[in-house]
Amino acid sequence: MQTTPIHIQTPLLASMLLSRFTGGQVWLKLEALQPSGSFKARGVGHACQHYVRQGAKQLLSSSGGNAGLAVAYAGRQLKVPVTVVVPQTTSARAIELIRAEQAKVVIEGASWNDAHEHAQQLATDDGAYIHPFDDPLLWQGHASLIDEVAEAGLKPDAVVLSVGGGGLLCGVIEGLNRQGWCDVPIVAVETEGAASLQAAVSAGRPVTLDAINSIATSLGAKQVAAQALTSARDNRVLCYQVSDREALDACLAFADDHRLLVEPACGAALAAVYQRAEALNDKTNVLVIVCGGVGVTRAQLQAWSQQLG
Ligand SMILES: *Cc1c(COP(=O)(O)O)cnc(C)c1O
Repeated sequence: MQTTPIHIQTPLLASMLLSRFTGGQVWLKLEALQPSGSFKARGVGHACQHYVRQGAKQLLSSSGGNAGLAVAYAGRQLKVPVTVVVPQTTSARAIELIRAEQAKVVIEGASWNDAHEHAQQLATDDGAYIHPFDDPLLWQGHASLIDEVAEAGLKPDAVVLSVGGGGLLCGVIEGLNRQGWCDVPIVAVETEGAASLQAAVSAGRPVTLDAINSIATSLGAKQVAAQALTSARDNRVLCYQVSDREALDACLAFADDHRLLVEPACGAALAAVYQRAEALNDKTNVLVIVCGGVGVTRAQLQAWSQQLG
């Protein structure tokens, strides 16, 4: 069995173009370059490896997005069969990508919650279910990206990242704490139609949004992990919101500036920089997690652009 990590070590680039929008240097951690197209390769890869080591003979996921693709990728590396249950709303393109990783796709239910429930029913004793964001094993794996930043000799004064269910946030906090960097502030960015962390922080308790209304579908968790809320109560996490248009514009600008296509879920974090977010004005070194995402094509960017006017 493969014992080396499933994810790859990603480049950490100083961006002179994005640095123009802040007081200091912007550093890009290019998770878009993971073989599965997003940072999910880290946590999901770590969790899959753990479960397979413990004897799991098959892996299950309920995500038609980057988490499902990461499980499919990890399963192929580990030579373990993967089933991904996806809701009917999943695009043909997403299904094609998962199948290309040789995973079995089961289409079931109207929403992620339905697919999630169905996946639990499929779970067998010899299989492991991989949650897309709420599992300490995932956070442990995501934390490796901060280890790499430290190994590169950089201590950031702020981290900018996107928040869906909060798995990336929990992982980055774990990584920072592991380095003893407990004072580094985090700008946690959501789109307005998917702001489940902000809703929970404002209410001071777990909140389930009625609906997700955003093109940033990878941020579309109606409720964040309890640990994300606990972490965000800590005053080092600053919740920040951008519109879909702003997230999309950031994707377009980033495609020009760094010649990489990323999802609006990732554009959200980039938008905080392009918008000169006040929290970044006085920072010498800003680390932006370029979380990536495969749910984007040139045609899809154009379609969103028309849709948003
Ligand atoms: C999963 C994902 C997110 C959100 O991550 P969470 O751990 O759910 O907060 C953001 N961007 C991309 C591209 C993702 O795949």
